[in-house]
Amino acid sequence: MAINWTEAQIEEVVAAVIKNLGGATAAKSGWDSTQYNGRRLIGVYADMNDAIDAATAGYKAIRAMSLEEREKVITAVRELCRKEAPIMANLGVTETKMGRVSHKTAKHILVADKTPGTADIVCQAKTGDFGLTLTEMAPFGVVGSITPSTNPSETVICNSIGMIAAGNGVVFNPHPNAIATSNYAVDLVNRASAMAGGPKVLVASVVKPTLDTAQIMYKHPNVRLLVCTGGPGVVRSVLSSGKKAIGAGAGNPPVIVDDTADIKKAGKDIIDGCSFDNNLPCIAEKEVFAFRNIADELISEMQKNGAYKITSEQAAKLAKIVLVDVKNPKTGIVKKTISRDCVGRDAAVLLAKIGINVGPEIRCIICETDFNHPFVQEELMMPILPIVRVDNIDQAIDLAVKAEHGNRHTAHMHSKNIDHLTRFARAVETTIFVKNAPSYAGIGFGGEGHTTFTIAGPTGEGLTSARSFTRYRRCVLSEAFRII
Ligand code: NAD
Repeated sequence: MAINWTEAQIEEVVAAVIKNLGGATAAKSGWDSTQYNGRRLIGVYADMNDAIDAATAGYKAIRAMSLEEREKVITAVRELCRKEAPIMANLGVTETKMGRVSHKTAKHILVADKTPGTADIVCQAKTGDFGLTLTEMAPFGVVGSITPSTNPSETVICNSIGMIAAGNGVVFNPHPNAIATSNYAVDLVNRASAMAGGPKVLVASVVKPTLDTAQIMYKHPNVRLLVCTGGPGVVRSVLSSGKKAIGAGAGNPPVIVDDTADIKKAGKDIIDGCSFDNNLPCIAEKEVFAFRNIADELISEMQKNGAYKITSEQAAKLAKIVLVDVKNPKTGIVKKTISRDCVGRDAAVLLAKIGINVGPEIRCIICETDFNHPFVQEELMMPILPIVRVDNIDQAIDLAVKAEHGNRHTAHMHSKNIDHLTRFARAVETTIFVKNAPSYAGIGFGGEGHTTFTIAGPTGEGLTSARSFTRYRRCVLSEAFRII
């Protein structure tokens, strides 16, 4: 099903659902990750070992199901996800204080519509003089999934669909700051499973996830694959676990705009992408390198589309608020780190911190900086977009590649020059490269292709889907079954 909801339609549905809830929000439930409005959440355990046991039972149940039955469960997950998208979006924003309800609603609908199911699992056959060899995509067993605070329920549901389609059980160690939202999504998958005739507990989670519960998950013999969606620290930790792991890590996506681009469209696209869910998606535009001869026009187009331009003095003031000194307790080294009080906040809220009051029509803060400015170098995950003027394509590519920091995550370009587009794509080597569109086109929102909220650059699976969570097994039949 195509994604064709307008923002106005989404706002309308969100308002209607929240009204029907009678004002019930996560705040009312007091961030109790075991219940929602008095209803006990299914699949949430106090002890990680119990959660792994439940996921193991879920895995055994899936193994006993036909593909058709598995697909029925996935269809039910999609339907519930679509129906309860506004509830999860509202929960996510209320619990984490990050992002926008209408955009989070759209993200859930995207997950429901464009996450591949069992059709993604295909068999390869090779026939020849010796007979037939099949290669099948088999489940791992129980998958241990670590999920972020930025797209909490989206990631739980997207990973659940793919991992279940592949025939796995799943246990989650969600981000502690988004635990009520993440566990709501775990419960949703289990409710869908029961509705579709599947096991009552198909996927599991814990009441209070910690680094210790993650370690139990890493070491448990039933957990055969670890999938980690988060920042550099946690990706490093799963990759050193000694188990097969998929790492979906940080990005800092640069955008190049050259003087052949449709500047009007580029200005709108960049602000649409950068301000989507207040810049929380890891693929969102984080810094712009604009050709000097079109920079003024580009800035003006951005301003027509909800961008507010601040001066370099105001940018310096804002930088002191959104980036704070944090001392590493082990090494004692002090490093500039993003302030969690500012991540994913509305542009108006961030501007108010430096004494500028604007209305809700302002959705992004822009400023001109040099390349070394922390707004360019740090992955802020806030609707703040620095613009660096460049003289030519060589300088643009050189600086954009450096700003991406070798994450090989995502990059964007607005240009009609095929040589420029090709040169940047080759140089930056990112998992996602979006040409002439907002960043979210790269995950299937207004762009072709499936969606995922787990983009595995470091370990190479790319935009993960059901097949990423499988192991290849070969079956050889000698001297028969070649029918030609
Ligand atoms: P985070 O890194 O703060 O946390 C991610 C998860 O890891 C949480 O569940 C956290 O509790 C846990 N964690 C942290 N350190 C750990 C450790 N040493 N051992 C075990 N668990 C640990 O992530 P966040 O702030 O919620 O998300 C933002 C980051 O994630 C950004 O860097 C963003 O780019 C990245 N991200 C990447 C993708 C992708 O698909 N590549 C998707 C979403 C977010």
